[in-house]
Amino acid sequence: MEFCPDCGKVLFPKDGKFSCDACGYEKVVTEESKKQYEVVEKVDKEDTIIVTDDNVKTLPTIKVICPKCDNKLAFWWLQQTRSADESETRFFRCTECDYTWREYD
Ligand SMILES: [Zn+2]
Ligand SMILES: [Zn+2]
Repeated sequence: MEFCPDCGKVLFPKDGKFSCDACGYEKVVTEESKKQYEVVEKVDKEDTIIVTDDNVKTLPTIKVICPKCDNKLAFWWLQQTRSADESETRFFRCTECDYTWREYD
C-alpha cells in the first residue's frame, strides 16, 4: 500500500499513477517498479521447470515427436504443477533442439 507523503492518506491507483483523494498528490508509477510487478506475476503464473542443462542429460528418453524440429526423441520427467491436487504433468525436452513442452491430457 502507498501513502501520500504530504498528508499521510492512502493513495489509490489511477491511470497508472497513485493519487491522493485528499490533497491531489500524484505519484507516477515508474517503469522500474512496473517491471518488478511483472516479474513477480510471471514467476507465479508459470509452472516452474526444474530441469536445467546440467541435470537433463540424466533423464530418461522417450520416442516422441518434437513439435518444433520433428526430432523423434525427447527427455521426459514428471513434475507437480502449482496446485497440489492436480496430478503430475509430464514434460518433454527435445534431445536435438532443447525445446521443452508439456503433455496435456
Ligand atoms: Zn495527500
Ligand atoms: Zn526439437
